[in-house]
Amino acid sequence: MATVLLKRLPIIIGLLLILTLCGVGVLTQLDVSSGITDNSNPPSENPPAVAVTPINPPSYSSDYCVRTGDWDPTNPFSGWPTDNTALHNSAFITMFFCDSTYGQTWEHEGLDFGFYLGTNVIATADAEVIQAGFHTLLGNMVLLCSGSWCARYGHLDSLAPDLAPGQTISKGTILGQVGQTGNAFGVHLHYDIYNEEGFWDPFPTLGR
Ligand SMILES: [Zn+2]
Repeated sequence: MATVLLKRLPIIIGLLLILTLCGVGVLTQLDVSSGITDNSNPPSENPPAVAVTPINPPSYSSDYCVRTGDWDPTNPFSGWPTDNTALHNSAFITMFFCDSTYGQTWEHEGLDFGFYLGTNVIATADAEVIQAGFHTLLGNMVLLCSGSWCARYGHLDSLAPDLAPGQTISKGTILGQVGQTGNAFGVHLHYDIYNEEGFWDPFPTLGR
């Protein structure tokens, strides 16, 4: 038996050598391939997101009412929220910012416009669509943000069918039509503007 093994020793050693070399080869290939995986930076299919910071609407407290009539130069939202210029008249404002007649426990955080049913509502800034859908209080609502500022357009009868979250739209884009959806006692547009400090009075922005 030992003699047979001794006779075949060169063959066995040869086989072991071949197996060892193959193993080294496989390991080397694994090392190389894993090295390629680690060092490669495949190009991203999507460019980096636009620098928009969607902020949740501030709480419905009255502390923002100190800003009634104030305007901040960094606020990009300006002009009337409708393309019907015949309605660009403060006579159509049916509820002002922080109107004390609004509620017993909170204040009105935006402006209400008594526009007619079906009046076009337009974007008041170049902005990103954050939401376009149903909101418990504001009904059919569009939320736009630009930089650190956001604006909501509420109670719409219908939303523009092609609006989608993440979409960038330009000022003047039709968002939908005035209606009475959500918590609304009559046909009107609710429009508010806020940033992380809270709600801001949209009235000073209308003429800009
Ligand atoms: Zn309102």
